[in-house]
Amino acid sequence: MNPYYKDFSEYMGEIFPGVKVQKLSIDAGFTCPNRDGSIGTGGCIYCNNASFTPGYCSPKDSVETQILKGKEFFRKKYPEMKYLAYFQSYTNTFGKSVKILEEMYRNAIEIEDVVGIIIGTRPDCIPDDLVGALSEINKEKPVIVEIGAETSKDETLHLINRNHTWNDVEDATKRLNDQGIRTGLHLIAGLPGENNEDVLASVRKACLLPIDSIKMHQLQVVKGTPLLSKWEKGEIDVVPFSLKDYLDLCVRIVKMIPRNICIERFLASSPPEMVVSPKWGLKNYQFTNLLMNELR
Ligand code: SF4
Repeated sequence: MNPYYKDFSEYMGEIFPGVKVQKLSIDAGFTCPNRDGSIGTGGCIYCNNASFTPGYCSPKDSVETQILKGKEFFRKKYPEMKYLAYFQSYTNTFGKSVKILEEMYRNAIEIEDVVGIIIGTRPDCIPDDLVGALSEINKEKPVIVEIGAETSKDETLHLINRNHTWNDVEDATKRLNDQGIRTGLHLIAGLPGENNEDVLASVRKACLLPIDSIKMHQLQVVKGTPLLSKWEKGEIDVVPFSLKDYLDLCVRIVKMIPRNICIERFLASSPPEMVVSPKWGLKNYQFTNLLMNELR
């Protein structure tokens, strides 16, 4: 057991005792309301979905095919493995009726060896009737909703063109929790205009919400994003972390997060050819090893 914080494997062990689980990322062909004009246009300034969607996911394949391909990949090495269908790309609760969404999620959990689902979305795309449907699915197999919160500072949310507020995050987490649905929050450290104290304030506020996990990562400036072009033109100020500074910040974050909240990860590691800054070239486990040394 990790002596410093509840990590993802401990969290999964609580939900699925004695079972080894692996997430299988799915691109189910969703779009994003912050791109198509429903909520905003242009998207969040740092977002290039290609930088965080695994290459093996293709919306050309059905959800079932993507899961079966993922299972096949892991089956030889880990025959006992069970899977979480991870609806990851874009906003996985948007643009379809609740009935269709429910059918899609149910189809995923009915596939052999799929023990639960994770649904990545925005805090303003989780209507009550969807929460009701997720609550019913959750009675059969665990449902985890992963919400992109990024920061608790509305000023920054505006600057990065998120087009939602922290109040939306509070509202969504409470409504999900009321129905017994596990919730994870996604936060980014190093957003334009923010310093370490802002990041710590977001973590502090997140810990006051009824959530089960936090996923942190450093801001990455990635090719093909408005963030990069604004940064190159001098329209926005980005101060990339040094690895040492980010490790120090993560030590402080670990000390703030109570043991009942899992810290799923600290690092984003987009394909190196897409990352402009910071270029640490580390995998998640390598960063975790460095952090454990710091914590020791
Ligand atoms: S981060 Fe999410 S909400 Fe923002 S533009 Fe990308 S897909 Fe849309």
